[in-house]
Amino acid sequence: MFEGKYYNGRTSKGMPAFIILEPHYIRINWQTDSDNGTEVWHLSEMHKTEFNDATTVLEYGTFPRQSIAVFEQGFQQALEHKYKGATFLKSGYSSFAKTGVKGLLIGGLGLLLVAVALFFWGVPALAEQVAAHFPKEYEHAMGEKLYEQMLEGYTVDSAKTVALQKYLDALEVKSDFPIRATVVENEAVNAFAMPGGFILVHDALLDKMEHHEELAGLLGHEIGHVQMRHSTKAMARSLSHYMLLSVLFGDVSGVAAVIVDNASSMYSLEYSRKAETASDKAGLALLAQNNLNPKGMVWLMERLNSNEPEFLKFISTHPRTADRIDELNMLIEESKYKTAPNPALETAWEELKGE
Ligand SMILES: [Zn+2]
Repeated sequence: MFEGKYYNGRTSKGMPAFIILEPHYIRINWQTDSDNGTEVWHLSEMHKTEFNDATTVLEYGTFPRQSIAVFEQGFQQALEHKYKGATFLKSGYSSFAKTGVKGLLIGGLGLLLVAVALFFWGVPALAEQVAAHFPKEYEHAMGEKLYEQMLEGYTVDSAKTVALQKYLDALEVKSDFPIRATVVENEAVNAFAMPGGFILVHDALLDKMEHHEELAGLLGHEIGHVQMRHSTKAMARSLSHYMLLSVLFGDVSGVAAVIVDNASSMYSLEYSRKAETASDKAGLALLAQNNLNPKGMVWLMERLNSNEPEFLKFISTHPRTADRIDELNMLIEESKYKTAPNPALETAWEELKGE
């Protein structure tokens, strides 16, 4: 027995009704405040049907045309089970029959392919586009939250952080974002650039360095990532499906929240070869701008390359170090660099390396 509304075709008001599926007919017991009655519908005179997930509408006779609407989900299945093969059940599918099974399959497959392509390619590409156009203040605020989230998992080396910031302040830097660098205790030879100008450097990487030009090169490389918004775009790409959900559920402000909530995904971000090359060039440009030896970039790479077990982690986000060294050497040969001593940088470097 199902609950629904019965319309007698003479008044537009629906009457509360119970619908009972008998073996060869449908019985409708309807009731109003002042009246009640029973209708019997023979299967052969039931014609038009409309099914969707929530509602089933059945019509009966020609004039007056009676109808019932049932809002229970199991009703359609119950009809199909009880009256298998009945004509009134097929009428809803007439448009499918005209198209033909083959056309339907091809059309369906085409739609499916478009949907799959949109989901796997379109959604990440769109998210990257959106991220590339975040207002700078917004990106900085998001980066700051992300950075605070990241720092919770680390021990900050305050003395080295102060010295690193001094080094950074003595560097001439071109960036749309204020650059803030932090040294944390970690054995992995690694560094990260977060959206909006936040840079995390593991102390193990600093320990490996022998020349301050390597540090300048590293900072230039990471600032390049910041400036070109590589992490923002990469995170947007990798989290695009979560973002889509938050947009679909009407929470547009949740897009940045999704990124912040997934701070840990910073570790597994992979930049393209193109992004790394562009950041290497940014590192070289920073060295040139500060009249520092451009070989600092190459030394940095060689240091990482000579450290198999530890550099593995670095190499996974910074692919093909050997190729990058070759490319850097070519770029250095092509350009003329003037080098000059920089006491401010050297003093900050000594402070950073001192115990
Ligand atoms: Zn990089």
